[in-house]
Amino acid sequence: MTAEVIVDIAHSEVDKIFEYRAIDGVFAGSRVKVPFGGRVVDGFVMRLKEGSDFDSSKLKSILSAVDDVPALNAECLKLVDDVSARYHCPKALVLRLFLPGEMRKGTVRELYKNVALFAKDVQVSPRAKAQAAALGYMKEALRADYTDLCAKFGRGAVFELVKKGALSLEKERVARTPYAAIAAESPEHALTEAQKRAVESICASDKTVQLLHGVTGSGKTEIYLTLIAKTLKEGKSAIFLVPEIALTPQMFKQLRARFGESAAILHSGLSAGEKFDEWWRLRTGEAKIAIGARSAVFAPVENVGVIVMDEEHDQSYVSESSPRYRTDEIARLRAEYNGCKLVLGSATPSVETYLKAREGEYGLLELPERINARPLPEMIVADMRREVRRGNNTPFSAALRDELAECLEKGKQAILFINRRGFAQSVICRECGYVAKCASCDVSLTYHSEENCLKCHYCGAQYHMLSACPECGSVHLSYTGTGTQKIVGELKKLFPSARILRMDNDTTSGKEGHYKILKAFSEREADILVGTQMVAKGHDFPAVTLVGILDADMSLHFSDYRSGERTFQLVTQVAGRSGRAEEPGKVVLQTYDPENYILRFAVNNDYKGFFGHEISLRKATAFPPFAKIVRVMVTAEDDKKALETLKEVWFSLKELYDGRPGEFLFFNKMRAPVKRIQNKFRYQVLMRLKSDKLLPEVYARSVPHTSRDVLVYVEENPNNLS
Ligand code: ADP
Ligand code: ZN
Ligand code: ZN
Repeated sequence: MTAEVIVDIAHSEVDKIFEYRAIDGVFAGSRVKVPFGGRVVDGFVMRLKEGSDFDSSKLKSILSAVDDVPALNAECLKLVDDVSARYHCPKALVLRLFLPGEMRKGTVRELYKNVALFAKDVQVSPRAKAQAAALGYMKEALRADYTDLCAKFGRGAVFELVKKGALSLEKERVARTPYAAIAAESPEHALTEAQKRAVESICASDKTVQLLHGVTGSGKTEIYLTLIAKTLKEGKSAIFLVPEIALTPQMFKQLRARFGESAAILHSGLSAGEKFDEWWRLRTGEAKIAIGARSAVFAPVENVGVIVMDEEHDQSYVSESSPRYRTDEIARLRAEYNGCKLVLGSATPSVETYLKAREGEYGLLELPERINARPLPEMIVADMRREVRRGNNTPFSAALRDELAECLEKGKQAILFINRRGFAQSVICRECGYVAKCASCDVSLTYHSEENCLKCHYCGAQYHMLSACPECGSVHLSYTGTGTQKIVGELKKLFPSARILRMDNDTTSGKEGHYKILKAFSEREADILVGTQMVAKGHDFPAVTLVGILDADMSLHFSDYRSGERTFQLVTQVAGRSGRAEEPGKVVLQTYDPENYILRFAVNNDYKGFFGHEISLRKATAFPPFAKIVRVMVTAEDDKKALETLKEVWFSLKELYDGRPGEFLFFNKMRAPVKRIQNKFRYQVLMRLKSDKLLPEVYARSVPHTSRDVLVYVEENPNNLS
């Protein structure tokens, strides 16, 4: 037999199949050691076949199989091919998505413990009391942990019994279980009528992808859990994807409580050993539910019965390193392969997803009400322009101060949310709300401090920095938000006795950093939680009755065509943290632009209104989903080399453009808005395409220009164009 092997070297030059002579114990999907260029390297067997395309007597032999069980199943092998073709990515790189990194590097192994087994009765001298006692014990127990046994009866006694053949020793695998310390608790609810209907229609539908659009607190989680339980009962497995597992320990807790050891968790915050063990538990079928962030979409489960993607609109579902895959695309491939459903859940679906659902490509289920008809929180809009004119220069409006005082007095909890994303921001007039925009693209400009200028990320245009507002002449221009630390300082002045927790990138380092803060807050060790995007996620704190959104429009003016969408999502998600239990909640939304339609829709909790408006805007301006923004990035430490490669890429893409100019809405090459990141110079070819038709050509004409010194990659509708 001949094995077709991909060697684990991610150079495009070696991205091809190498043939080796197969040995016993090697299957399609096996990890193997092979001789390669005078070294021994790891590889994956993609296929076994009779005969060879080469002179088979000259083939080298595989040296050994790394694992007893092939690491990849048939579905994963197919997925490797599909993903590699879709994103023009070397198979060796794609293969790395399927295994925990440490496993690849061989720095982690199974953890074993010794177990003693009773083998046969033997004669023991009556003077050897410990031996006799140990033998008596083992005759009853038959099996015991070796270390425990030694602790009980003494190492010498146990050793003697082993020597006499009374006991035999055996190695047993120990699974390192992450979050073992998290107490499992999960109230199991009888489904409401609405939940029941949702489950039934998801199961009955003939469409692979199902969108579950339910307002915050409508009980989507219970629907997911029911679908997963059903799948397990049918003997199948499940994949449950969440945006950031570190931020949602409650979710994992619930799954552990409900499904016990059948649930396995895959995420980057685990120790190498934990990752390894959880991965193998899934691969061998010992665990059936894979839970994790986007990379868990590659979980080694078989016979998948349902895939759930919670908060489907979340940006973290797009990978930011090669291959730059979209999690929903991969999940859909897997759902189609397994003939199962992919359930996308969100209170604020991306407009792209909702359009597909409305047009009938996806099934659509709507839960417009909270569980038990609990009201959505009351929204109070605070006009910050008026506050500035009144001389209030603190980050808190009068309304927010009053509501905070009342909330604290009642002994309830509050969350204050600060909108911060990236370092580059837009320029806004604090007196009239004017925002600097690009004349040709109608998106906000981004301030670049190193050059003290404003740039449009969609066409590359540069503008002078403003010294005063062109609308009202005010010099109160703001282009940096206020940090969490400063907010906490100001809060302490206002409410000296309030207990305040801060949650941002600085305070959440460490393996369970997020978890510690969230736990402290949920155990009422603090009254106010101040934080960034992290506090917006799906937390369920029953005592929170007030949410303050300090700068609701900061994300409205990010230089992204999705700014409106992001703001709607963010405001709705953060607001959804308020009043989730019996006590109704309130939200104070501070803005310089109270008339803004996005905020109006968010305040009225009107997703459909928002969607209708947004989708017609996208259509009129030819932005996604009615077009595709594609950026080909060329980066290198050597500026000259980067520029040379850019020219080659450009030349090759220009041919494509010249042949089909009608497919392009925009096409140009330029320096990236941020010229250099991590010592690498950055150039780009930016295009807006009418459809996906030319996409494979774009990849084929750019990615192969990658060389030892220059990296070339393609981004589709990138989250960030800096
Ligand atoms: P979502 O994910 O839609 O925001 P959750 O799943 O977090 O909503 O549910 C909101 C709250 O309602 C949770 O506290 C949950 O325990 C509770 N809940 C969910 N389903 C039921 C039910 N059938 N009966 C009673 N309470 C429920
Ligand atoms: Zn102004
Ligand atoms: Zn522009």
